[in-house]
Amino acid sequence: MTVRMFVAGILGLLWGWQAQAAWVDRTEAVMGTRIAVRLWADDVDRANAAIDAVMAEMRRIDALMSPFKGETPLARVNREAAARPVPVPGELLKLIHRALRVSVLTGGAFDITFASVGYAYDYRRHVRPDDAWVERHLDRIDYRHVVLDDTASTVRFSMPGVRIDLGGIAKGYAVDRAIALLRRRGIRQALVSAGGDSRLIGDHRGRPWYIGIRDPRRKDASTAVLPLADTAISTSGDYERYFEAGGRRYHHILSPWTGHSADKVRSVTILGPDATTTDALSTSVFVLGPERGMALVERLPGVDAVIIDAEGRMRFSSGLKMPAGSRQKTAAVSVE
Ligand code: ADP
Ligand code: MG
Repeated sequence: MTVRMFVAGILGLLWGWQAQAAWVDRTEAVMGTRIAVRLWADDVDRANAAIDAVMAEMRRIDALMSPFKGETPLARVNREAAARPVPVPGELLKLIHRALRVSVLTGGAFDITFASVGYAYDYRRHVRPDDAWVERHLDRIDYRHVVLDDTASTVRFSMPGVRIDLGGIAKGYAVDRAIALLRRRGIRQALVSAGGDSRLIGDHRGRPWYIGIRDPRRKDASTAVLPLADTAISTSGDYERYFEAGGRRYHHILSPWTGHSADKVRSVTILGPDATTTDALSTSVFVLGPERGMALVERLPGVDAVIIDAEGRMRFSSGLKMPAGSRQKTAAVSVE
């Protein structure tokens, strides 16, 4: 082989590699939300196979945890757990455990039994229960009504009329599962998001990923853009699912203490080690409001927040006020 042939061969290989390596994007509607994946791969076919696997995983989790689809394990729990312990797959039991630990951590702001009242809302059809009904059903909201048996892998409710819904944590969990799956396939730069819950692997090839925080009162506008890498980020907002009636805004994040939509902030963005944690914490801090919510964030290493309060002012946790890059260095806590 001549030197020229050798060089040509190397160039050809490089060209072939370059022609193949690319960002691959896809969005699909799963879990009642928009799933978006963007990843860098040397081989577009392998990238598409990886994204297929992510979407399949999202559908699997939806089938396990949707409270709406009649025959999911969660739907069965809601129908029967007040009468008898209901067997559930270990994976579901584990996530309920995790949700209950977030309840303890947040003093009850995060509470999957919010659904005992929450089920009576239909935001799309502007349906809501009246205040007297909410008042009468309020004692059904309490995470301590959920009794788990690890050995038998069952869920039981200690009070009739209790319902649970994992809408405040399941999407983050699904994103974490997707990220683990991509890592196992050797993907080193990726973004996976499910609605307001996202997680990043690596950076954007030498640059950070730029993730925008939506302006809660202007559709399709961002109020801030954060340069990020290797992190999870979740936003909870009062603009996602809501309607207005009699001068009040009815939206999908309920205060467990009042049974009504939490109204101390417009949006909460949480940064942290994994999306299960950031998802649950964004809902929690939304309920807690700017003062108590920020105090909680400051207590948790590796967790940061951007809160847009009821007046539209933006508040940053201390980790975001540090010089660029330093927040990734703090040891991160996750609610396992
Ligand atoms: P989304 O991405 O759907 O906007 P969020 O993370 O903002 O999700 O959480 C909102 C969802 O959390 C609601 O749709 C509901 O399913 C659930 N939820 C509402 N209030 C609470 C609460 N106090 N504790 C736990 N989950 C809640
Ligand atoms: Mg959430």
